[in-house]
Amino acid sequence: MTMKRSIKALLGQALFASRLDSLMVGNAAVVVAFHRVQDAPDANGLSTSLEMFERYCRLFRRHFRVIPLRDLVERMERGRALHRQLAITFDDGYRDNFELAAPVLEKLSLPATFFIVSQWMGSDVVPWWDRQQNVRYPWMTWDEVRSLHRKGFDIGAHTRTHADLGRVVDGQAREEIFGGKHEVEQHLGAPVELFAYPYGRSDNIVDSNRDLVKAAGFRCCCSCFGGINSSRSDPFHLARIPISPWYSSLGLFGFEVALGRSVTSYPGTQPIQPAA
Ligand SMILES: [Zn+2]
Repeated sequence: MTMKRSIKALLGQALFASRLDSLMVGNAAVVVAFHRVQDAPDANGLSTSLEMFERYCRLFRRHFRVIPLRDLVERMERGRALHRQLAITFDDGYRDNFELAAPVLEKLSLPATFFIVSQWMGSDVVPWWDRQQNVRYPWMTWDEVRSLHRKGFDIGAHTRTHADLGRVVDGQAREEIFGGKHEVEQHLGAPVELFAYPYGRSDNIVDSNRDLVKAAGFRCCCSCFGGINSSRSDPFHLARIPISPWYSSLGLFGFEVALGRSVTSYPGTQPIQPAA
């Protein structure tokens, strides 16, 4: 990170404005990851304000082909060319996803996937990163999850209890991966094929657990780093760009996408190298 943010922001805006971005992400797809959409101050850096969220959505719609993640995975499975597709995802299952984000997505007719922690839906569990900040954000109820699903949004799995799959192995990992899938399917009455592993860094999943994700019948395994995906990318190593307040402007986001990487750091991720 040698350039100043302000310069990068300007460059990012310029890239979008001049549509150079189309050249740079021409044969690639972007998967963005949100956590919370809400306006209160957030020391965790996991929240995007409602206004900013809508601006992001409009930017996605203008510059990309926004498609459901499952469609992107299918394209990758079939080895079809990628061309500026973008999939919107949310991790964890915070209630603001249902109350604030979904109405914006519906208004703009944008698809999205919500990765939920099955044991936390409808519970009063406070995860360690929120407890640390002495804040509490409610989870969706299962009724709200089902409502999203009925509206046509996809629901994905994110383990049962937000386990670190870089540490948990064997029976416990199986329980988290297979169990989380089963629980969401039971509540939805529909198959669940998309998976994002908690924390999302490269060291938050070991190979044996990625194999379990495949064995459970998932069709993808999303990280929370790595920038953009090419048509050669493996759906079980799906890169995502986490959206956080670090991107103080849309231009900054544009800059990172145009360069094919993301450098965001927030609890659960770390700055990463350019995508291979
Ligand atoms: Zn998570």
